Amino acid sequence: MKSLIIGVIKIAKLIDGKKISEDIKNEVAEEAKEFKKTSNITPGLAVILVGENPASKVYVSSKQKACDKAGFYSETIKMDEDVSTGDILNELHNLNNRRDIHGILVQLPLPPHIDSAKVLESIYPEKDVDGFHPVNIGKLVAQQECLVPATPSGIIEMLKRENITVSGKNATVVGRSKIVGKPVAMLLLNENATVTICHSKTGDLRSATLGADIIVAATGIPYLIKEDMVKEGAVVIDVGINRISKDKADTALLEWRKEDFEKKGVTLIGDVDFLRVEPRAGYITPVPGGVGPMTIAMLLKNTLKAAKMQAG
Ligand code: NAP
Repeated sequence: MKSLIIGVIKIAKLIDGKKISEDIKNEVAEEAKEFKKTSNITPGLAVILVGENPASKVYVSSKQKACDKAGFYSETIKMDEDVSTGDILNELHNLNNRRDIHGILVQLPLPPHIDSAKVLESIYPEKDVDGFHPVNIGKLVAQQECLVPATPSGIIEMLKRENITVSGKNATVVGRSKIVGKPVAMLLLNENATVTICHSKTGDLRSATLGADIIVAATGIPYLIKEDMVKEGAVVIDVGINRISKDKADTALLEWRKEDFEKKGVTLIGDVDFLRVEPRAGYITPVPGGVGPMTIAMLLKNTLKAAKMQAG
């Protein structure tokens, strides 16, 4: 769909991640039903949750609810904050060998005393629905069939469903984490974009983003991507999730998110200065309601894919 012209103010097309993710969840539920009919297998997801991190608890409970709705089997293994790496590895050994569990994920972050790399490497690659295992990362680079991290694959899915051409375009990814920045850059490259990856040591971020047809911002820094860093008509994908309290908000944000501040005293914003960037962009994802909801939808998709792969 073309951008709307309202008076003299150009408004970017909002990419509705909530709607797209609902569509994907419904498609996955339908596909899982068909798969069950033909194979008698119910996709199963196990989540290991260590400690009492409130945000992690919310994420895990959302994942469980989404599994229930899709007709999947799901199980959460809760472990105490002071658990050892060995205890987690034992649990993973058990889950790796269970036939009713096709996907395993360990909710991050883990407490600092845990060897996170060892934990993630102990999940069987074919059950690694988060796609963080080195085997899956290697396969992604080698463009082989694999389980791809959910947030990055959700971004590509959004672009596809909005019919946004990636091939031949300049894409700039801001952030180089293993969870978002690096895999999304690789996926964009695999879709034939010319990709620039920026990070905290990048000398001239503005020129890197200004030259981009597609910008993916994944830093966790509010207002990092400003209006003068975005080319007219660019596609702006905002992955950042930043919690802003009322006392830290400027006047524009206070007005825009008045309801949130009145009800909760906080609001969520991304890495993009949305109010000022939106009139320049061709497409833009909101926060919340953009990339965020895609992650769980893609996790379900990965779990079903894992179940199908394991069924041969
Ligand atoms: P992360 O591991 O902290 O990585 C942040 C990245 O941003 C790093 O690569 C860092 O560079 C880079 N960076 C920091 N300051 C910068 C600057 N001034 N200019 C350019 N780059 C800069 O974070 P993450 O896990 O990728 O997450 C990023 C954001 O996405 C967070 O807000 C997170 O909450 C959100 N997120 C959302 C979802 C979702 O929507 N479902 C999923 C995952 C993450 P260095 O490598 O040089 O330090």
